[in-house]
Amino acid sequence: MRVPLVDLRAQYLSLKETIDAAITHVCETACFIDGEAVHKLESEIAALSGARFGIGVASGTDALVLALRACGIGPGDEVITTPFTFGATSEAIMLVGARPVFVDIDLCTFNIDVSRIEQAITPRTRALLPVDLFGQMVDRGQLQEICRRYNLKLIIDAAQAIGAKQRGLRIAETGDATILSFYPTKNLGAFGDGGMVLTNDAEIAATVRRLRVHGQSGYGHYEVIGYTSRLDTLQAAVLLAKLPMLEEWNEGRRQHAALYQTLLADTSVTLPGTEPGNYHVYHQYTIRHPQRDTLQAHLQQHGVDSKVFYPQPLHIQPPYASLGYRLGDFPHAERATREVLSIPVVPELTTEQVEYVAACIRNFLDSN
Ligand SMILES: *Cc1c(COP(=O)(O)O)cnc(C)c1O
Repeated sequence: MRVPLVDLRAQYLSLKETIDAAITHVCETACFIDGEAVHKLESEIAALSGARFGIGVASGTDALVLALRACGIGPGDEVITTPFTFGATSEAIMLVGARPVFVDIDLCTFNIDVSRIEQAITPRTRALLPVDLFGQMVDRGQLQEICRRYNLKLIIDAAQAIGAKQRGLRIAETGDATILSFYPTKNLGAFGDGGMVLTNDAEIAATVRRLRVHGQSGYGHYEVIGYTSRLDTLQAAVLLAKLPMLEEWNEGRRQHAALYQTLLADTSVTLPGTEPGNYHVYHQYTIRHPQRDTLQAHLQQHGVDSKVFYPQPLHIQPPYASLGYRLGDFPHAERATREVLSIPVVPELTTEQVEYVAACIRNFLDSN
């Protein structure tokens, strides 16, 4: 049996008529920038995420950069984040001229260990940039409490967590800004790059809107140096066509995750943990095992795709060399990079495929 990690073609075919019609409509109206679909998507995503404002931008990475700038983060500032994430998170901090300060993760959830944040705060700390990794929200109450106590901005990288919830709180209900990515493989993916900044702050929203069009307040009136970073109408139209399916797709991921949890519960693989009160949307279903590489090879031999998110922690990689971190600084993040394996969990999979993946893992464990 073949089990892919993602199946974007199957997802497209399941909605082909709606998506094709949406694309044709944009072509016929020829409103390729700032079209109706962009405004509609912004308000619908903001509503489902618990934010007043949504501002579509060209990518999740741009959303991070624009959100950081709109929060006033720049040279000389320190921003606390995680070393175990996609590189865009700390890259954005570097791109605005600030300094990423890494804090180790909780090995159970793979998210930043909130209990270690305070000891990393210095007089230069201006913001926290946690990541809702693999689809599970970092504890918003604790983050907010720290930000209140130390007067810090809270920017949340929710690129992997659209639709997640925590004790009734949605992803963008707390904090100064929350960002999303619509990279094709995300839980809600475009047919190319796209992203969004979500905020409840009218001033941050207005600043992000200016930054995405060269820092203009009106045509030809430049306030600050900005970017060309809009969300194309075509991408917004594709996203709008897919949006009604998001909840069902996230539910599908959760059902597959629950089945893995049952089928692999009594084995030596470590299953991903969920903190109480979290509605995890399983952008990835990530297990841990000391013989990760041989397990991955075994799965591949049996037709099961898997991927290592992430193979290297960020603090020891060349772009961050000047920060002075060393191997050994963040033992949990480093251990995660050696042991993690993300296995197929996309909603397009059948129950039989999920059972087959679990069976392949079990027979690997039995013979090792
Ligand atoms: C996908 C992703 C981003 C942004 O990616 P883009 O490709 O720029 O849209 C940022 N942070 C995390 C954690 C991501 O997974």
